[in-house]
Amino acid sequence: MEKKPDAPLKKDNFQEWWQEILGRAEIVDNRYPVKGLTVWHPSGFALRRRVYDLLRSLLDRDHQETLFPLLIPEDQLAREAAHIKGFEKEVYWVTRGGGEDLEVPLALRPTSETAIYPMFQLWVRSHADLPIRIYQIVNVFRHETKHTRPLIRLREITSFKEAHTVHATWEEADAQVQAATQLYREFFDHLGVPYIITRRPDWDKFPGADYSVAFDTMMPDGRTLQIGTIHHLGDHFARTFHIQYEAPGGERKHAHQTCYGISERCIAALLATHGDDRGLQIPPTVAPIQAVVIPITYGENPQVLQAARGFREALERAGVRARLDERNLRPGEKYYHWEFRGVPLRVEIGPKDLQKNQVTLVRRDTLERTTAPLDRGAEEVQRLLREMGDSLRAAARRQMESRLRSCATTAEARRATEGGVAWLTWCGQKDCAEAIETETESALLGLSPLDAEARCVKCGAPGKHRALLGRAY
Ligand SMILES: [Zn+2]
Repeated sequence: MEKKPDAPLKKDNFQEWWQEILGRAEIVDNRYPVKGLTVWHPSGFALRRRVYDLLRSLLDRDHQETLFPLLIPEDQLAREAAHIKGFEKEVYWVTRGGGEDLEVPLALRPTSETAIYPMFQLWVRSHADLPIRIYQIVNVFRHETKHTRPLIRLREITSFKEAHTVHATWEEADAQVQAATQLYREFFDHLGVPYIITRRPDWDKFPGADYSVAFDTMMPDGRTLQIGTIHHLGDHFARTFHIQYEAPGGERKHAHQTCYGISERCIAALLATHGDDRGLQIPPTVAPIQAVVIPITYGENPQVLQAARGFREALERAGVRARLDERNLRPGEKYYHWEFRGVPLRVEIGPKDLQKNQVTLVRRDTLERTTAPLDRGAEEVQRLLREMGDSLRAAARRQMESRLRSCATTAEARRATEGGVAWLTWCGQKDCAEAIETETESALLGLSPLDAEARCVKCGAPGKHRALLGRAY
């Protein structure tokens, strides 16, 4: 399994770094013979599991996990007009079963509104059934025509967490959008991934939504990556799918809904955010291995080995996910191996450490070496892991903020979006937005409220929004 690097990786060249690192660090293998499909390495999958366990634990506070079918009948998928218009060009179809043509073609879900909402019609009877909050973590399929990229743009999105909620009123659904926004904040904070939250412009909202909120992060090359979306669906889908409830007065009313999703882009974001020229850096919260213990033995040294085994056990008792690397390799090779894979902390135990009754600890983020007494080493490891989580998050936040610019002209915004994103004031007119996009050679990604009176950078009329301009993946 051990692969020697062919050439050093430079994160300055992000495209190449990304293309190379996922395979070399054994996250995913892109050699599967279908474009846009990828294979999770067992070690990448272990990371995926940690990340999604975290997401589950946040959702499980007040959502229920469920599982709906992969296949959606054509007539059902087409029921909501705006929705199908937004997805029809990307849908994969199953048209044959065995040797027979199917009577009704079946779509591989591009997202599951039209699989789930006909069931909501059956489940929702009275106001007492509401709210409903469910989620599932599934694969979805989209026939992407754009350039596919591992974990970023796939034809099989392997890890789509989609939540769907039903409420009595528009206001209650609106409050759910706020709650979901808070939940996503918490999730990305745990991953140390910085984000910008905006409302999508009307022409870019989810097909069939009243409005959409998006989380964007910034990749190392300054391009943005949408890592989470939250949609207020109003009663559009409820009207189409006849999701009605009996109000306390006996009246029948349409329900209001929300849906919100996160895909494996959350893992792309954490790897791209924290990695460097030495390889990956996995935040301690989700690292499958938080500390690796390496015995430094030149030849046989049973005492060192025994101390290393004992220390690994002490770490495990303290709740630290620890691995002992007893392989017959030179210590330097082991250092490189774990450093490249982003294990947060390395513990070295050699004859000199034993003499002094200590362990040597090396941080992956700062490469700083410290020592701790052998009998209190596990506590020190826990402390360092907490500190590293905080410092990774803070460093990532600073890095992103250094590339956010407030711009007064489109020329200024064009320069800013070459290696970051720009905020500027917009009047709300579509014509101005189009001109701004053309002149800045970037896209209007999202909107946020103005914090002070300002004028549209294009037409000089009173501004309505702060607009986020960037080049998106
Ligand atoms: Zn304007």
